[in-house]
Amino acid sequence: MHMTKDEVNGLAKRRNCPRCDLDKTVGNALCRRCRAKLPPHMRLGIENIPSKDGGVVGSALRAAANYFNVHFASVRKFGGGKKR
Ligand SMILES: [Zn+2]
Repeated sequence: MHMTKDEVNGLAKRRNCPRCDLDKTVGNALCRRCRAKLPPHMRLGIENIPSKDGGVVGSALRAAANYFNVHFASVRKFGGGKKR
């Protein structure tokens, strides 16, 4: 997964988080709350993204998405989400 410079800049300028729609800081890929859930080494790739390469940001976002899926899937399964 590789993002172009335009995509990186577009994401950096967005005012809301692509994961949860909370307000986020310009320059970061995700909001403070989403970033706080990630381990520090994963957070680096999604902060101050205009200074980073599109490949770095793309793979960092992908790693973050995988992390959320793995670590928070159990919350959805055990009562955190809607019942089916
Ligand atoms: Zn968020």
